[in-house]
Amino acid sequence: MVKKHKKLHIKKRVQRKEREEIPKITLSKQALTDLITELVGASALPVVEQLQKRRNVSEFTIAEKLKLSINQFRHLIYKLDTFNLVSSTRRKDKQKGWYVYYWTFHPERLEKLYWDLKRRKLARLKKRIGTEQITSFYVCPNKDVRVPLTEAMELNFRCPECGKLLQEDKINLVKKLGSEIEEIEKELKEHSQESK
Ligand SMILES: [Zn+2]
Repeated sequence: MVKKHKKLHIKKRVQRKEREEIPKITLSKQALTDLITELVGASALPVVEQLQKRRNVSEFTIAEKLKLSINQFRHLIYKLDTFNLVSSTRRKDKQKGWYVYYWTFHPERLEKLYWDLKRRKLARLKKRIGTEQITSFYVCPNKDVRVPLTEAMELNFRCPECGKLLQEDKINLVKKLGSEIEEIEKELKEHSQESK
């Protein structure tokens, strides 16, 4: 039986998309850099920089530009893909007969993630400040643990790591947490006004 060769056909849609611009975002360059570094590491920054220039860039083009092996590049791009920050299309290289991936960065997804993480952090800090306000904390002199009073009582005021007597923590975190909360709330408020 003779296998029929499927006629390869490059979608026009892909070519048109290439000319579309990367969407603009309100996130500062610094915030973008910090977030990428935090999520996937600073090694992914040059890749993001290349992808910010245009859409649908061949993996080989970027790898070559950054002097990376194709596997090094793929390792970085998959990390970005984990956070859904990039998308790809694949096309068959007519001469070599293999598939090449073309990548597009989505800064608007990064921006959404940025605000989601901010809101989550705010909720975490609020929960934390609530606990700090209603109970005292006990610390190990060797800084192994810092536990609320009830837990310290369960431990008979002994550090589970080194056995030393726990002491009441005089450092009040309420003020510090309060100013962190205030800062995030201010940023979120400014953002919601910007996007109106
Ligand atoms: Zn200890």
